[in-house]
Amino acid sequence: MNELDRAEEFHGHLGPWLVVGMRVGQAALERVDARKYFGVRVEVAVPPAPPVSCLVDGLQLGTGATTGKANLVVSRADSPRVRVINTETGRSATIAFAEGLPAKLAAWLKEEGDRAAARRVLEAPLEELCAIVPEP
Ligand SMILES: [Zn+2]
Repeated sequence: MNELDRAEEFHGHLGPWLVVGMRVGQAALERVDARKYFGVRVEVAVPPAPPVSCLVDGLQLGTGATTGKANLVVSRADSPRVRVINTETGRSATIAFAEGLPAKLAAWLKEEGDRAAARRVLEAPLEELCAIVPEP
């Protein structure tokens, strides 16, 4: 099963923010050199409704942190914010979403539908989505 099929089975549909979560989660995990599933804590703040809140499920897929293991902590915010912490070393990073990303993804969603927008996010250069900023 490929990555997108697995994501769709877990989340119920494919969408751009789901894939953003998968990609930035994976990249942040690597940046802080954390062990997937158990060596990581993810703090995410999102608006309380889809499509942007779908980011949370993508982060679960990308990092292995889950609400059930209590290493994924979700709160509300007007625009998405993510922080990833290596729980073994304390190394951490925040994700700075690209300027205008919510509007861009909303446009892709409207013009092309959720599957095509999801694929476009999968194929986009990571810099087009976000920067991963190490914390001191
Ligand atoms: Zn969704």
